[in-house]
Formats: sequence, C-alpha cells, structure tokens
Amino acid sequence: MKVAQLGSGTPEIAVVAGVHGDEPCGVRAIERLLEEAPAVKRPVKFVIANELALEAGVRHVDEDLNRAFPGDPDAATHEGRLAHQLQAELGDCLCFSMHSTQSHAEPFAIVREVSEMARTICPQLPVTSVVTTGPYAGGRLFTEIETIEVECGLQGSEAAAQNANRLTRAFLTAVDVLPGTTVTRELPVFELVDRIEKDAADRYEVFVENFTRVEAGATFAAADGREQVASDPFYPVLMSPYGYRDVFGYTARKLETMAAGSAAD
Ligand SMILES: [Zn+2]
Repeated sequence: MKVAQLGSGTPEIAVVAGVHGDEPCGVRAIERLLEEAPAVKRPVKFVIANELALEAGVRHVDEDLNRAFPGDPDAATHEGRLAHQLQAELGDCLCFSMHSTQSHAEPFAIVREVSEMARTICPQLPVTSVVTTGPYAGGRLFTEIETIEVECGLQGSEAAAQNANRLTRAFLTAVDVLPGTTVTRELPVFELVDRIEKDAADRYEVFVENFTRVEAGATFAAADGREQVASDPFYPVLMSPYGYRDVFGYTARKLETMAAGSAAD
C-alpha cells in the first residue's frame, strides 16, 4: 500500500486506486495529480491499495480485495490483511475508489445505497448512471468506509485513464478540495437484483447493452452457443462475456432518477 497526501492537516477525504491490480486507470490519475501537486483548499489522502497485484498485473493475489472487507490483521490471505490495513488507513475519510471493467466504456458510480452523500456528490461526477449494490454489498470497501466507487471505463484503455483523471478532479471539486465548480446532471439509478450465472464453457457471448432494458423472451447471452433467454424484463449491469469467472454480470431494476441539486430539497 502506498500513501501520499496533498495539503497539511488530517485529511477527511481520500482517493483510492488499485484495489484491483489489473485496473491501472486510477493509479495513473493519482500519479498525475501528485505530479501536478495543485494547491488544495483542504487536505486529501491518496492511497494505491494492492501494489503486489498491480506489479503482477492481476486482479488479486489470493482473493478479491473488494470482497475481503473488513479483513483481519492475521488473515491467511494477502488481501485479507490488506483490507484491514486499508480500512485503518482510511479511518473516517469520505472515500473515492476507482475501478475499471470489461463491461462498459462509459463511467458510472457504484454506491451501497442512495444516501444523502451519494445524492450530493454523484450528480456532480461525469458519470452516466448510479448503481446500488442491493444484496451484493458484502465484503466491499463501502461496507466499512463511506465510499463512492466509480467504474472509469474499459480495463487497460487510454480512455479509462483519462476518465479516471476527470472523475477524480470532479470529485475533489465537489468535496471542496480543489477550487472551482462542477457541472451537475440527472442520473438514472439502478439496483442490482440477481447474479446472471454462466455455465462452464469455452466461448461466451453477450447480446445486450448494459443499462439498456432487456425484454422478457429476449436472448441475452450464450455459453458455447447455448442461449440464455430472459424470463422477466431486466436491466443488465456489469455484464460481459469474460469479465467474471462464474457470472455474466447482474440483473438490475431502475429505481429513480437522481436529480441535480436534489440534496437541497
Ligand atoms: Zn475493480
């Protein structure tokens, strides 16, 4: 774990990258910001989490860090111990954690619930939607630390690194670390409902777009040519042929539209 800070005093804001070692976009955004070292209005902490996995270019060494919280100092796994250390390092900070996916090029936010904090900050980020994890929050950083996760784009892409940079600056402006104003937008909110299981196969296909409604009866994926058909309508989220080992992704339902400035209502 690597920790750096801009500004003096005890930070109440933290930016985290490299929770997954094969998602370098956030690390680049943090390095770029630290190089520029802009003047800050309040102190901010930067954490590069899973250095071991980043060096190896793998998602994790022993287990998924973002399913390992709260962790344990005596855990048998690297990520189990790291989860505990990371949580101690972040303390009471409001945290911004950057990820990337194989499922969707456009940035979106992931939160545990539509809290007052989420309503205030998410509409100020350059994202296209907000996802709440519903029953799938277990073990993630935001079960322990108040956190907005963002998916910055496609893993390893230049666009994801650029998005990570824009997202970090927007977040830091929204929480009054960087000077300036943000642009607010209306965002649809989706809640994860179910995992979309996939059978063992050599070849996987996905026929639908994430965040676009799939109607009942539509063929949405296939494993070695065996088609999977929707029994009920749903919105696919984090869905890709090869992004996860056991699942294509998740079904979601659309909850509401998060309006710009709704926190003031
Ligand atoms: Zn990730």
